[in-house]
Amino acid sequence: MKDFAILLPAEVQTAIARLEQHGFEAYAVGGCVRDSLLGKQPNDWDITTSARPSQTAACFSDFRTVETGIEHGTLTVLVNGTPLEITTYRNDGEYLDNRHPKQVTFSHRIEDDLCRRDFTVNAMAYHPVRGLVDLFDGRADLTRRRIVCVGDATTRFHEDGLRILRAIRFASVLDFSIEEETARAIHACRSLLSNIAAERIREEFCKLLCGVGAVRILREYADVIGVFLPELSACVGFAQNSKYHCYDVWEHTLHALEQCNTNDLLTRLSILLHDVGKPLCYTEDEDGGHFKGHGPIGTELTASLLRRLRFDNGTSARVTRLVEYHDRITPAEPKAVKRLMQKFTDEDILRLLEVQRCDRLAHAPAHAEPPSALFDLPAVMQSIREQGACLSLKTLAVKGDDLLALGIPAGKEIGAILSELLDAVLDGALPNDREVLLEHVKKGR
Ligand code: ATP
Ligand code: MG
Repeated sequence: MKDFAILLPAEVQTAIARLEQHGFEAYAVGGCVRDSLLGKQPNDWDITTSARPSQTAACFSDFRTVETGIEHGTLTVLVNGTPLEITTYRNDGEYLDNRHPKQVTFSHRIEDDLCRRDFTVNAMAYHPVRGLVDLFDGRADLTRRRIVCVGDATTRFHEDGLRILRAIRFASVLDFSIEEETARAIHACRSLLSNIAAERIREEFCKLLCGVGAVRILREYADVIGVFLPELSACVGFAQNSKYHCYDVWEHTLHALEQCNTNDLLTRLSILLHDVGKPLCYTEDEDGGHFKGHGPIGTELTASLLRRLRFDNGTSARVTRLVEYHDRITPAEPKAVKRLMQKFTDEDILRLLEVQRCDRLAHAPAHAEPPSALFDLPAVMQSIREQGACLSLKTLAVKGDDLLALGIPAGKEIGAILSELLDAVLDGALPNDREVLLEHVKKGR
């Protein structure tokens, strides 16, 4: 029954029509149908068809195509510059290693293709004339806002362990609950995630962390997260015994994340990991618990866990430094801010301020007010930028050649003098003026 319509983009309609003109069936399927029914703009449009990959290729011989996963039946066709993934109806058969189907067999029935899909809300297909194919009540689950496995959850997770993480990722991103039986199986099967490639884990986990329901899901599924981030498991229930804190380390982290008002991945990763070093450096005296050195230890842990999850070097380096600096508040004064600007990009400084703001708000109420420097610093930074102030040797008014011309021998001494001059300029002791700086050097000799 077709009691509503999804407006398929012209390219998708073209592709479906083209396949059907050649005698095959074709539907929009999966995430794009789900998102359309939710009134959201889909990220991409996938098409499922009864045509075999070679037949699909023949239908689109006058289009640019990319063989993305031909052994799994997927061909990407560029229609008016829009890439469409067209996949043959598939049965996945038996699974090897909790991840890969032993063999993929192609099918002529859309039913087969829908029942291999992970969740009811992801297992709907839509045709511009025939309407919605919804064999597992996905539409009702969208209305109830819940994630439910297609078929028996435990079986589906044993076929492919990644689905465990996908379930909680979708619950976070869509802000859905998870149906009881599916939830039970997620907890029970969580160790299957240890067989999954780090890249796949990373991809799903990053989406989870940036989802609107992230805090709720991290709290409820900390045991699942702990399979690939055991460093965080160590934080769960770790009491701080400090007047500055009213939560254990994990709850503090979640409260900090709750305060975060951006879905920027780097900021959120930094908040998630800012106190990861705490359980390893707890000490206690008559004043209560202390975590001396949790910054450096957390920095090391962060670097190693991001490497393990195969984050790119840029992301790893930046998040690691945000964790390293999370505990150091910079006064909103030009001298100090310039030093900070030497170390971080302006964007990362704003991230650091957000990490520090969230961290502070998650302290015990009497200690939860963020220092005013956090709010004042961006204006100081902006005025430094506007003044075009010198922040590095690159813009220092004196160069090595100027010093050589003064008769200073090539070598270490030149570098030492330049960095001394830069220091003086950064601190405002000297202006960034060639004559003045050279005069200063001459006087000192
Ligand atoms: P997103 O908006 O994040 O892209 P999506 O639903 O499109 O969401 P994809 O990972 O692109 O998610 O997968 C496309 C579709 O393929 C899913 O909707 C689902 O039907 C199916 N699918 C993907 N991964 C799996 C899996 N591991 N097991 C079963 N079905 C899967
Ligand atoms: Mg998708």
